[in-house]
Amino acid sequence: MTERDTHRVIPLQDQRRQSFALPAVAGGWLPAANPQVTDQRGRALRDLRISVTDRCNFRCNYCMPKEIFDAQYAYLPHSALLSFEEITRVARQFVALGVQKIRLTGGEPLLRKNLEQLVEQLASLRTPDGLPLDLTLTTNGSLLARKARALKTAGLQRVTVSLDGLDDAVFRRMNDVDFPVSEVLAGIEAAAAAGLGPIKINMVVKRGTNEHQVLPMARHFRGSGMVLRLIEYMDVGATNGWRLTDVLPSGDVVKLINAELPLLPLEPSSPGETAGRWGYADAGGQHDKVAGEIGVISSVTQAFCGGCNRARLSTEGQLYLCLFAQQGYDLRSLIRAATPDADLASTISQIWQARDDRYSELRSALGPDTGAGVTRVEMSYIGG
Ligand code: SAM
Ligand code: SF4
Ligand code: SF4
Repeated sequence: MTERDTHRVIPLQDQRRQSFALPAVAGGWLPAANPQVTDQRGRALRDLRISVTDRCNFRCNYCMPKEIFDAQYAYLPHSALLSFEEITRVARQFVALGVQKIRLTGGEPLLRKNLEQLVEQLASLRTPDGLPLDLTLTTNGSLLARKARALKTAGLQRVTVSLDGLDDAVFRRMNDVDFPVSEVLAGIEAAAAAGLGPIKINMVVKRGTNEHQVLPMARHFRGSGMVLRLIEYMDVGATNGWRLTDVLPSGDVVKLINAELPLLPLEPSSPGETAGRWGYADAGGQHDKVAGEIGVISSVTQAFCGGCNRARLSTEGQLYLCLFAQQGYDLRSLIRAATPDADLASTISQIWQARDDRYSELRSALGPDTGAGVTRVEMSYIGG
Protein backbone atom coordinates (compact mmCIF):
# COMPACT_ATOMS: atom_id res chain seq x y z
CA MET A 1 0.00 0.00 0.00
CA THR A 2 1.44 3.42 -0.90
CA GLU A 3 1.46 6.49 1.31
CA ARG A 4 -1.13 8.05 -1.01
CA ASP A 5 -3.54 5.11 -0.42
CA THR A 6 -3.46 5.58 3.34
CA HIS A 7 -3.35 9.36 3.30
CA ARG A 8 -6.40 11.41 4.10
CA VAL A 9 -6.36 14.75 2.31
CA ILE A 10 -8.59 17.42 3.79
CA PRO A 11 -10.33 19.87 1.45
CA LEU A 12 -9.08 23.42 1.73
CA GLN A 13 -11.13 26.22 3.22
CA ASP A 14 -9.54 29.51 2.25
CA GLN A 15 -8.25 31.23 5.39
CA ARG A 16 -5.97 33.61 3.56
CA ARG A 17 -7.96 36.79 3.80
CA GLN A 18 -9.23 36.48 7.36
CA SER A 19 -7.62 39.22 9.40
CA PHE A 20 -7.81 40.65 12.88
CA ALA A 21 -8.68 44.34 13.18
CA LEU A 22 -5.53 46.45 13.23
CA PRO A 23 -4.85 48.40 16.43
CA ALA A 24 -5.44 52.15 16.34
CA VAL A 25 -2.23 54.06 15.76
CA ALA A 26 -0.88 56.43 18.35
CA GLY A 27 0.21 59.20 15.97
CA GLY A 28 3.74 60.45 15.63
CA TRP A 29 5.29 57.50 17.52
CA LEU A 30 8.85 56.65 16.57
CA PRO A 31 10.80 53.58 17.70
CA ALA A 32 13.72 54.55 19.91
CA ALA A 33 17.10 52.96 19.19
CA ASN A 34 17.08 49.41 20.64
CA PRO A 35 13.43 49.59 21.70
CA GLN A 36 13.29 45.91 22.87
CA VAL A 37 9.65 45.36 21.95
CA THR A 38 8.44 42.32 23.89
CA ASP A 39 5.19 40.37 23.85
CA GLN A 40 2.88 39.29 26.69
CA ARG A 41 5.31 36.47 27.56
CA GLY A 42 8.40 38.67 27.51
CA ARG A 43 9.57 37.40 24.10
CA ALA A 44 11.51 39.90 22.00
CA LEU A 45 10.89 40.37 18.27
CA ARG A 46 14.09 39.12 16.62
CA ASP A 47 13.30 36.98 13.59
CA LEU A 48 11.14 37.77 10.55
CA ARG A 49 10.19 35.15 7.96
CA ILE A 50 8.92 36.51 4.69
CA SER A 51 6.99 34.37 2.23
CA VAL A 52 7.70 35.71 -1.25
CA THR A 53 5.41 33.35 -3.18
CA ASP A 54 2.62 30.88 -2.45
CA ARG A 55 3.64 28.76 -5.47
CA CYS A 56 5.93 25.77 -5.56
CA ASN A 57 7.26 23.35 -8.16
CA PHE A 58 7.16 20.47 -5.62
CA ARG A 59 4.10 18.83 -4.10
CA CYS A 60 5.50 17.45 -0.84
CA ASN A 61 2.61 15.54 0.62
CA TYR A 62 3.10 17.02 4.11
CA CYS A 63 2.87 20.59 2.77
CA MET A 64 1.13 21.00 -0.63
CA PRO A 65 -0.67 17.72 -1.41
CA LYS A 66 -1.32 17.31 -5.12
CA GLU A 67 -5.01 16.63 -4.62
CA ILE A 68 -5.54 20.16 -3.25
CA PHE A 69 -2.82 22.17 -4.95
CA ASP A 70 -3.86 21.11 -8.44
CA ALA A 71 -4.45 22.99 -11.70
CA GLN A 72 -7.69 24.44 -10.28
CA TYR A 73 -6.10 25.83 -7.14
CA ALA A 74 -6.43 29.63 -6.97
CA TYR A 75 -2.97 31.01 -6.22
CA LEU A 76 -2.68 34.67 -5.36
CA PRO A 77 -2.68 37.02 -8.37
CA HIS A 78 0.50 39.04 -8.85
CA SER A 79 -1.24 42.27 -7.80
CA ALA A 80 -1.95 40.75 -4.37
CA LEU A 81 1.72 40.04 -3.67
CA LEU A 82 3.79 42.61 -1.84
CA SER A 83 6.27 44.18 -4.25
CA PHE A 84 9.99 44.13 -3.38
CA GLU A 85 9.76 47.81 -2.41
CA GLU A 86 6.78 47.11 -0.13
CA ILE A 87 8.54 44.14 1.48
CA THR A 88 11.69 46.18 2.09
CA ARG A 89 9.70 49.06 3.57
CA VAL A 90 7.86 46.86 6.02
CA ALA A 91 11.05 44.90 6.83
CA ARG A 92 12.77 48.19 7.69
CA GLN A 93 10.13 48.84 10.37
CA PHE A 94 10.62 45.34 11.80
CA VAL A 95 14.37 45.92 11.95
CA ALA A 96 13.82 49.21 13.79
CA LEU A 97 11.80 47.22 16.34
CA GLY A 98 14.53 44.64 17.02
CA VAL A 99 14.53 42.11 14.15
CA GLN A 100 18.08 40.92 13.47
CA LYS A 101 17.41 37.98 11.19
CA ILE A 102 15.33 37.73 8.00
CA ARG A 103 14.56 34.45 6.27
CA LEU A 104 12.99 34.40 2.80
CA THR A 105 10.70 31.47 2.24
CA GLY A 106 7.47 30.41 0.56
CA GLY A 107 6.23 28.36 -1.35
CA GLU A 108 9.46 28.02 -3.22
CA PRO A 109 11.19 31.42 -2.91
CA LEU A 110 13.46 30.88 -5.92
CA LEU A 111 10.37 30.83 -8.16
CA ARG A 112 9.85 34.54 -7.46
CA LYS A 113 11.27 36.42 -10.44
CA ASN A 114 14.38 38.55 -9.86
CA LEU A 115 14.58 37.54 -6.19
CA GLU A 116 18.21 38.76 -6.14
CA GLN A 117 16.83 42.32 -6.36
CA LEU A 118 14.89 41.82 -3.12
CA VAL A 119 17.96 40.26 -1.50
CA GLU A 120 19.99 43.29 -2.49
CA GLN A 121 17.43 45.68 -0.97
CA LEU A 122 17.17 43.72 2.28
CA ALA A 123 20.96 43.37 2.53
CA SER A 124 21.23 47.16 2.68
CA LEU A 125 19.15 47.36 5.91
CA ARG A 126 20.96 47.96 9.21
CA THR A 127 19.93 47.30 12.80
CA PRO A 128 19.65 50.29 15.20
CA ASP A 129 23.25 49.40 16.20
CA GLY A 130 24.35 49.75 12.57
CA LEU A 131 24.87 46.02 12.02
CA PRO A 132 23.88 44.11 8.87
CA LEU A 133 21.10 41.54 9.15
CA ASP A 134 21.50 37.80 9.23
CA LEU A 135 19.91 37.28 5.80
CA THR A 136 19.03 33.78 4.76
CA LEU A 137 16.65 31.72 2.62
CA THR A 138 14.97 28.30 2.78
CA THR A 139 14.67 26.49 -0.53
CA ASN A 140 13.88 23.07 -1.94
CA GLY A 141 17.16 23.41 -3.84
CA SER A 142 15.72 22.68 -7.29
CA LEU A 143 16.86 26.02 -8.76
CA LEU A 144 19.85 26.60 -6.53
CA ALA A 145 22.54 25.42 -8.94
CA ARG A 146 21.44 28.17 -11.34
CA LYS A 147 20.92 30.92 -8.77
CA ALA A 148 23.45 30.44 -5.95
CA ARG A 149 26.12 32.79 -7.27
CA ALA A 150 23.74 35.68 -8.08
CA LEU A 151 22.14 35.37 -4.63
CA LYS A 152 25.54 35.52 -2.95
CA THR A 153 26.55 38.54 -5.03
CA ALA A 154 23.29 40.26 -4.05
CA GLY A 155 24.15 39.88 -0.35
CA LEU A 156 22.49 36.64 0.79
CA GLN A 157 24.57 35.17 3.60
CA ARG A 158 23.49 31.54 3.75
CA VAL A 159 20.84 29.03 2.74
CA THR A 160 18.87 26.19 4.27
CA VAL A 161 18.06 23.44 1.79
CA SER A 162 15.21 20.99 2.36
CA LEU A 163 16.05 17.39 1.51
CA ASP A 164 14.00 14.44 2.76
CA GLY A 165 16.27 11.58 1.69
CA LEU A 166 19.18 10.49 -0.50
CA ASP A 167 17.49 7.54 -2.13
CA ASP A 168 16.27 8.81 -5.49
CA ALA A 169 13.03 6.80 -5.48
CA VAL A 170 12.12 7.95 -1.96
CA PHE A 171 12.96 11.56 -2.79
CA ARG A 172 10.95 11.55 -6.02
CA ARG A 173 7.97 10.09 -4.15
CA MET A 174 8.18 12.69 -1.38
CA ASN A 175 8.39 15.70 -3.70
CA ASP A 176 5.62 14.03 -5.73
CA VAL A 177 6.72 15.64 -9.01
CA ASP A 178 9.41 13.06 -9.79
CA PHE A 179 12.24 15.52 -9.19
CA PRO A 180 15.66 13.78 -9.02
CA VAL A 181 17.74 14.02 -5.87
CA SER A 182 20.94 14.55 -7.91
CA GLU A 183 19.79 18.05 -8.93
CA VAL A 184 19.21 19.11 -5.33
CA LEU A 185 22.63 17.73 -4.36
CA ALA A 186 24.13 19.75 -7.23
CA GLY A 187 22.30 22.83 -5.88
CA ILE A 188 23.78 22.25 -2.42
CA GLU A 189 27.27 21.96 -3.92
CA ALA A 190 26.76 25.17 -5.90
CA ALA A 191 25.62 26.99 -2.75
CA ALA A 192 28.70 25.78 -0.87
CA ALA A 193 30.97 26.82 -3.74
CA ALA A 194 29.33 30.27 -3.82
CA GLY A 195 30.04 30.72 -0.09
CA LEU A 196 26.40 30.54 1.07
CA GLY A 197 27.36 28.72 4.26
CA PRO A 198 27.19 27.40 6.88
CA ILE A 199 24.48 25.46 5.03
CA LYS A 200 21.68 23.77 6.94
CA ILE A 201 19.83 20.77 5.52
CA ASN A 202 16.20 20.36 6.63
CA MET A 203 14.79 16.85 6.62
CA VAL A 204 11.17 16.28 7.63
CA VAL A 205 10.98 12.76 9.04
CA LYS A 206 7.73 10.88 8.50
CA ARG A 207 7.34 7.52 10.20
CA GLY A 208 7.10 4.73 7.65
CA THR A 209 7.95 7.05 4.73
CA ASN A 210 11.57 8.18 5.06
CA GLU A 211 12.77 7.15 8.51
CA HIS A 212 15.13 4.63 6.83
CA GLN A 213 16.81 7.66 5.19
CA VAL A 214 17.85 9.17 8.53
CA LEU A 215 21.11 7.19 8.85
CA PRO A 216 22.19 7.58 5.20
CA MET A 217 21.56 11.33 5.53
CA ALA A 218 23.55 11.49 8.80
CA ARG A 219 26.47 9.58 7.23
CA HIS A 220 26.39 11.77 4.12
CA PHE A 221 26.45 15.14 5.90
CA ARG A 222 28.71 14.15 8.84
CA GLY A 223 32.02 15.97 8.36
CA SER A 224 30.69 18.08 5.47
CA GLY A 225 30.54 21.35 7.42
CA MET A 226 26.75 21.33 6.87
CA VAL A 227 24.26 20.82 9.69
CA LEU A 228 21.55 18.22 9.13
CA ARG A 229 18.35 19.20 10.94
CA LEU A 230 15.75 16.52 11.49
CA ILE A 231 12.27 17.95 11.79
CA GLU A 232 9.24 16.31 13.36
CA TYR A 233 6.32 16.18 10.94
CA MET A 234 3.99 18.96 12.11
CA ASP A 235 0.24 19.48 12.13
CA VAL A 236 0.68 22.76 10.31
CA GLY A 237 -1.96 23.95 7.81
CA ALA A 238 -5.24 22.19 7.17
CA THR A 239 -4.70 19.95 4.17
CA ASN A 240 -2.01 17.39 4.95
CA GLY A 241 -4.23 15.00 6.96
CA TRP A 242 -1.68 14.97 9.81
CA ARG A 243 -1.81 12.08 12.28
CA LEU A 244 0.26 11.75 15.44
CA THR A 245 1.13 8.19 14.38
CA ASP A 246 3.05 9.62 11.37
CA VAL A 247 5.39 11.57 13.67
CA LEU A 248 8.75 10.00 14.49
CA PRO A 249 9.73 11.72 17.76
CA SER A 250 13.13 13.44 17.75
CA GLY A 251 14.13 11.29 20.73
CA ASP A 252 13.84 8.21 18.48
CA VAL A 253 15.76 9.94 15.68
CA VAL A 254 18.63 10.76 18.07
CA LYS A 255 18.67 7.15 19.34
CA LEU A 256 18.76 5.85 15.77
CA ILE A 257 21.78 7.96 14.83
CA ASN A 258 23.52 7.54 18.18
CA ALA A 259 23.47 3.72 17.81
CA GLU A 260 25.89 4.00 14.87
CA LEU A 261 27.40 7.48 15.19
CA PRO A 262 27.69 8.40 18.90
CA LEU A 263 26.28 11.81 19.82
CA LEU A 264 26.52 14.14 22.79
CA PRO A 265 24.23 17.06 23.67
CA LEU A 266 25.49 20.59 22.94
CA GLU A 267 24.44 23.92 24.45
CA PRO A 268 22.04 26.10 22.39
CA SER A 269 24.04 28.57 20.29
CA SER A 270 21.52 31.40 20.69
CA PRO A 271 18.44 32.22 22.79
CA GLY A 272 15.20 31.20 21.06
CA GLU A 273 17.00 28.54 18.99
CA THR A 274 14.46 26.05 17.68
CA ALA A 275 16.81 23.11 17.14
CA GLY A 276 18.22 20.90 19.90
CA ARG A 277 21.93 20.50 19.10
CA TRP A 278 23.80 17.19 19.19
CA GLY A 279 27.50 16.89 18.38
CA TYR A 280 29.24 13.83 16.94
CA ALA A 281 31.50 12.34 19.61
CA ASP A 282 35.14 11.34 19.05
CA ALA A 283 36.70 8.12 20.43
CA GLY A 284 37.29 9.89 23.78
CA GLY A 285 33.64 10.96 24.09
CA GLN A 286 34.39 14.63 23.32
CA HIS A 287 32.74 16.69 20.60
CA ASP A 288 34.48 16.00 17.29
CA LYS A 289 34.21 19.43 15.69
CA VAL A 290 35.36 18.18 12.30
CA ALA A 291 32.54 15.61 12.24
CA GLY A 292 30.20 18.46 13.25
CA GLU A 293 26.68 18.33 14.63
CA ILE A 294 23.03 17.69 13.91
CA GLY A 295 19.92 19.57 15.03
CA VAL A 296 16.55 18.15 15.97
CA ILE A 297 13.41 20.25 15.76
CA SER A 298 10.86 18.73 18.11
CA SER A 299 7.87 20.97 17.52
CA VAL A 300 5.46 18.17 18.38
CA THR A 301 7.13 16.33 21.28
CA GLN A 302 8.93 19.25 22.94
CA ALA A 303 7.34 22.66 22.58
CA PHE A 304 9.73 25.61 22.35
CA CYS A 305 7.21 28.48 22.42
CA GLY A 306 8.92 29.97 25.48
CA GLY A 307 11.69 31.45 23.35
CA CYS A 308 9.74 31.99 20.12
CA ASN A 309 10.83 35.34 18.73
CA ARG A 310 9.55 34.87 15.16
CA ALA A 311 7.04 36.91 13.18
CA ARG A 312 5.84 35.85 9.75
CA LEU A 313 4.85 38.01 6.82
CA SER A 314 2.66 36.22 4.29
CA THR A 315 2.93 36.55 0.53
CA GLU A 316 0.18 39.19 0.51
CA GLY A 317 1.42 41.14 3.50
CA GLN A 318 -0.48 39.60 6.41
CA LEU A 319 1.45 39.50 9.67
CA TYR A 320 1.17 36.18 11.56
CA LEU A 321 2.38 35.74 15.12
CA CYS A 322 2.50 31.94 15.13
CA LEU A 323 2.98 29.17 12.58
CA PHE A 324 -0.34 27.73 13.74
CA ALA A 325 -2.31 30.97 13.62
CA GLN A 326 -5.77 31.10 12.10
CA GLN A 327 -5.71 34.80 11.29
CA GLY A 328 -3.19 37.52 10.53
CA TYR A 329 -3.01 41.30 10.52
CA ASP A 330 -3.36 43.03 7.16
CA LEU A 331 -0.24 45.20 6.92
CA ARG A 332 -0.64 45.51 3.14
CA SER A 333 -3.73 47.67 3.60
CA LEU A 334 -1.62 50.09 5.65
CA ILE A 335 1.26 50.07 3.18
CA ARG A 336 -1.02 50.71 0.22
CA ALA A 337 -2.87 53.49 2.10
CA ALA A 338 0.42 55.42 2.21
CA THR A 339 0.64 55.13 6.01
CA PRO A 340 3.74 56.94 7.33
CA ASP A 341 6.64 54.72 8.47
CA ALA A 342 6.26 55.76 12.09
CA ASP A 343 2.61 54.66 12.15
CA LEU A 344 3.45 51.38 10.46
CA ALA A 345 6.14 50.70 13.07
CA SER A 346 3.75 51.69 15.86
CA THR A 347 1.09 49.27 14.58
CA ILE A 348 3.56 46.38 14.35
CA SER A 349 4.87 47.18 17.82
CA GLN A 350 1.35 47.17 19.31
CA ILE A 351 0.48 43.88 17.60
CA TRP A 352 3.66 42.25 18.92
CA GLN A 353 3.14 43.60 22.44
CA ALA A 354 -0.32 41.99 22.56
CA ARG A 355 0.99 38.60 21.33
CA ASP A 356 0.26 35.61 23.55
CA ASP A 357 0.61 32.71 21.05
CA ARG A 358 2.00 29.36 22.23
CA TYR A 359 0.26 26.72 20.18
CA SER A 360 2.83 23.91 20.60
CA GLU A 361 2.86 24.32 24.37
CA LEU A 362 -0.93 24.08 24.45
CA ARG A 363 -0.83 21.02 22.18
CA SER A 364 1.63 19.37 24.60
CA ALA A 365 -0.64 20.22 27.52
CA LEU A 366 -3.99 19.45 25.91
CA GLY A 367 -3.11 16.67 23.49
CA PRO A 368 -2.83 16.27 19.72
CA ASP A 369 -6.46 17.24 19.07
CA THR A 370 -5.83 20.81 20.27
CA GLY A 371 -6.33 22.17 16.77
CA ALA A 372 -9.12 19.81 15.70
CA GLY A 373 -11.91 21.58 13.84
CA VAL A 374 -9.81 24.70 13.40
CA THR A 375 -8.73 25.79 9.93
CA ARG A 376 -5.20 27.14 9.97
CA VAL A 377 -3.30 28.88 7.19
CA GLU A 378 -1.05 26.79 4.97
CA MET A 379 2.70 26.76 5.49
CA SER A 380 3.25 27.51 1.79
CA TYR A 381 1.39 30.81 2.27
CA ILE A 382 2.63 31.88 5.69
CA GLY A 383 6.21 30.70 5.13
CA GLY A 384 8.00 27.90 7.00
N1 SAM B 1 9.93 25.46 -0.44
C1 SAM B 1 10.96 25.74 0.49
C2 SAM B 1 11.48 24.48 1.12
O1 SAM B 1 10.85 23.43 1.03
O2 SAM B 1 12.54 24.56 1.72
C3 SAM B 1 10.57 26.74 1.56
C4 SAM B 1 9.21 26.65 2.16
S1 SAM B 1 8.87 25.19 3.11
C5 SAM B 1 7.20 25.48 3.63
C6 SAM B 1 9.86 25.49 4.56
C7 SAM B 1 10.18 24.27 5.41
O3 SAM B 1 8.99 23.78 5.98
C8 SAM B 1 10.78 23.11 4.64
O4 SAM B 1 12.01 22.72 5.24
C9 SAM B 1 9.75 22.00 4.78
O5 SAM B 1 10.34 20.75 4.81
C10 SAM B 1 9.08 22.38 6.08
N2 SAM B 1 7.72 21.82 6.21
C11 SAM B 1 6.68 21.96 5.37
N3 SAM B 1 5.59 21.30 5.84
C12 SAM B 1 5.98 20.72 7.02
C13 SAM B 1 5.31 19.91 7.99
N4 SAM B 1 4.05 19.55 7.86
N5 SAM B 1 6.01 19.53 9.07
C14 SAM B 1 7.31 19.89 9.24
N6 SAM B 1 7.97 20.67 8.38
C15 SAM B 1 7.33 21.08 7.27
FE1 SF4 C 1 7.14 23.21 -1.79
FE2 SF4 C 1 8.72 23.52 0.30
FE3 SF4 C 1 6.16 22.88 0.65
FE4 SF4 C 1 7.78 21.07 -0.39
S1 SF4 C 1 7.92 21.96 1.66
S2 SF4 C 1 5.75 21.62 -1.18
S3 SF4 C 1 9.18 22.32 -1.54
S4 SF4 C 1 6.90 24.77 -0.19
FE1 SF4 D 1 6.28 29.93 17.98
FE2 SF4 D 1 3.75 29.27 17.54
FE3 SF4 D 1 5.71 27.51 17.03
FE4 SF4 D 1 5.07 28.14 19.57
S1 SF4 D 1 3.77 27.09 18.11
S2 SF4 D 1 7.14 27.97 18.71
S3 SF4 D 1 4.54 30.31 19.34
S4 SF4 D 1 5.40 29.48 15.99
